[in-house]
Amino acid sequence: MTTGFYTDERTFWAGGGNYAFTQPVAGLVQPFVGGGLPEAPETKRRFKNLMEVTGLIGDLSVRTAPEADRADLLRVHPATYLDTFKEMSDAGGGELGLRTPFGAGGYEICALSAGLAVDATRAVTSGDLRNAYSLSRPPGHHCLPEFPNGFCLMSNLAIAARAAQADHIGLRIAVIDWDVHHGNGTEAVFYDDADVLTISLHQEHNYPLDTGDFADRGAGNGVGTNLNIPLPSGGGHQLYLEAFDRLVEPAVRAHRPDLIMIACGFDAAAIDPLSRMLASADTFRQLTARTMALADDLCDGRIVMTHEGGYSEVYVPFCGHAVIEEMSGSSINAPDPYADTFRIRQPKSHFDDYARGLLDQMVAAL
Ligand SMILES: [Zn+2]
Repeated sequence: MTTGFYTDERTFWAGGGNYAFTQPVAGLVQPFVGGGLPEAPETKRRFKNLMEVTGLIGDLSVRTAPEADRADLLRVHPATYLDTFKEMSDAGGGELGLRTPFGAGGYEICALSAGLAVDATRAVTSGDLRNAYSLSRPPGHHCLPEFPNGFCLMSNLAIAARAAQADHIGLRIAVIDWDVHHGNGTEAVFYDDADVLTISLHQEHNYPLDTGDFADRGAGNGVGTNLNIPLPSGGGHQLYLEAFDRLVEPAVRAHRPDLIMIACGFDAAAIDPLSRMLASADTFRQLTARTMALADDLCDGRIVMTHEGGYSEVYVPFCGHAVIEEMSGSSINAPDPYADTFRIRQPKSHFDDYARGLLDQMVAAL
């Protein structure tokens, strides 16, 4: 069985709004020339381009998909939200939430971004593919059912997970979100769902500023099936792997999932403009290898990744390439030009001791 790579150029055309980086252009904030929000096509397109240049893409089953249909979207987003979004999109665009501008046709682009995740997940749960990666935009993990925020307008991963649950009654899913920001939208959708374990590794109080605390463990039937792992800024390769080994892996094993889904952001990388962490392409490679070993043990290797953040145009492609190499088992390599630099920049032992103490506290509190 093969690795699926779902993508569609049309999703790279999402746009709208007048921003200078994350600030609306107004008053003293000067407009960007040829730019805008950091959530932009270039990082994603260059990820795909690098795989074409190295030939890695030839080892994948490259596919597109139709837009997610209304029944798929309604499992996560209420009709009132979808109708308002569609009306504004048809009328030329606008903004519904926080940092979520969209242009004419933005609704259809978001439905396509979600649709790629839905089809990728269906292909894996049906046994057509061993694992799959969905590269699209806008991303989804911040979007709540009725509140788009953080560049996210539809909750792609959650829509795909709900579709898989509709196809396979009783399907148990473990979601691991290693985007550097808290997966607040995914958490909200599944907060009281005992069948879906949601885990978010993130830089503490980066975005959103007021969510992602360790104490938030779920509600109702879902108590214990949400796990936030807030990490201190400056944490790097070792901290991510230790957090995975000591907190993520035991939680996933205890959940006994039929499918593992990854909200895959590359914005914990040392060069990312929207975070202060020190991960590298090798960090994402090792996290992927660990996830694959877990999936092999627990659920016949079934993994679906949806692309979330990552804002370094030069570095996201190398992180993505490393992840896809692992997922596919390909021997085609793209050496990381920053590997030596980021290895030297890793935190020193006193920081590791401090960070390990934080992990100790979380492990003891579970
Ligand atoms: Zn992010």
